[in-house]
Amino acid sequence: MQVGLKATGGTLFAIGAATVALLAPSAHAGAGGFSPGSARSGDPFFPREGNGGYDVQHYGVENSYSPGKRRLRGATTIDAVATQGLSRFYLDLRKHMRVSAISVDGQPASFVQRDGKLAITPAAGIPDGDAFTAVVSYDGHPRPVVDPDGSSEGWFTTDDGAFVASEPLGTTSWMPCNDRPDDKASFDFDITVPKQLRVASNGTLTGVTRTESKATFHWSQPEPMATYLATTTIGRFRFLRSSQDGIDSLVALDPGFGRRTPAPFKRTGEILGVYQKAFGPYPFGSTGAILDPGPVGFALETQTRPIYASPPSTYIHAHELAHQWFGDAVSVSRWPDIWLNEGFATWASWLWEQHLGKRSLHATFRKAYEAPLSKRFWGPPPRRLGGPKNLFDSSVYVRGAMTLEALREKIGNPAFYGLLRSWVSDHLYGNGSTAEFIALAETTSGRQLDKFFRIWLKRTGKPKRW
Ligand SMILES: [Zn+2]
Repeated sequence: MQVGLKATGGTLFAIGAATVALLAPSAHAGAGGFSPGSARSGDPFFPREGNGGYDVQHYGVENSYSPGKRRLRGATTIDAVATQGLSRFYLDLRKHMRVSAISVDGQPASFVQRDGKLAITPAAGIPDGDAFTAVVSYDGHPRPVVDPDGSSEGWFTTDDGAFVASEPLGTTSWMPCNDRPDDKASFDFDITVPKQLRVASNGTLTGVTRTESKATFHWSQPEPMATYLATTTIGRFRFLRSSQDGIDSLVALDPGFGRRTPAPFKRTGEILGVYQKAFGPYPFGSTGAILDPGPVGFALETQTRPIYASPPSTYIHAHELAHQWFGDAVSVSRWPDIWLNEGFATWASWLWEQHLGKRSLHATFRKAYEAPLSKRFWGPPPRRLGGPKNLFDSSVYVRGAMTLEALREKIGNPAFYGLLRSWVSDHLYGNGSTAEFIALAETTSGRQLDKFFRIWLKRTGKPKRW
């Protein structure tokens, strides 16, 4: 994500602890080794978002949107594997999407929808290790989620459809899911809209089915994706196709921004070329961008195809493309590790600027280090954020990037670039943590680095010696 004008105006989203307790599973296993899965992920920042007891393999999202009525109807098929014997399990979905029916392995399941959770009791217990398929049918008027920093994300209604960008919690505003970044899955989207509109999503557009009045856009995202990176943005797009550094590209362009590909998107191939050399092969089968005037002040690295509400600078586009490696292919396990996304993407756009001959990495670091900056610039430390309201503070970006540049200068280019490439290949399509990154940095460089990372990531104030 790159925050420009922060979309605020919301109040803090208060969730009643008492009602959460009603949904909490009991600790003991029932007869036959079946017990309820957890209704919590336990993430330090968003503990009640996401669930336990199963591992999602695939989401098949079949949605139909009527822009005139602002109404979304659909059914999502969730293929999962039980990681315990399950008598009941939970999914995340906001209450404005009203669930009408749920089946598990073809049998009707009973369910309760409350406080952003679906508590689902299948007709029979699901044995540990068994694959199962849940189909959730719903109908509602989607609207954004307001999260603890006061910003909004998820489904935004636009003049001609919807702008959909969901980091960190917004996917639950429009589809049921296990909303935690460490339960990644492949996705297929079959999204039906009035025939004059188009749908821009993740991965590859595999086909369009038309009736007299409607069009269904079929998108496939075969590589695993964290739920917050999903989008089904709807509008009067032009689709501009090209090849960028050998990768199929599709840019979805709102015609209000003209007929031609905006200049930063024409440089996608050059940017990806710099990154493929530095970080290893581009991790997905397609690239591109979505440019749609949405009521948000941020850009987001929606997987394969970053989304923008206004034309970005090439620097911002380079930031979102870097996230395809750092954030999308390798995702955080837990949200307090967000510097692994934002610090890395910021450092990568410094690398892009160095490639352009604008300023060396070292000079960018010195400029940031020596600027007469407020205390706010240095804090909170990137790995000691203090809470979810600071998730996208500027220190996560700039001090996070400075951490990487200080590391490069400490361990040298061969070890540093070897580290970045191993980080991507070791955790490809999965997740990583700060502790794992530090351990890999020490192995790759043969250096003791825990003090270095403590100073840069956890110590209050401006680092002096490292
Ligand atoms: Zn970002």
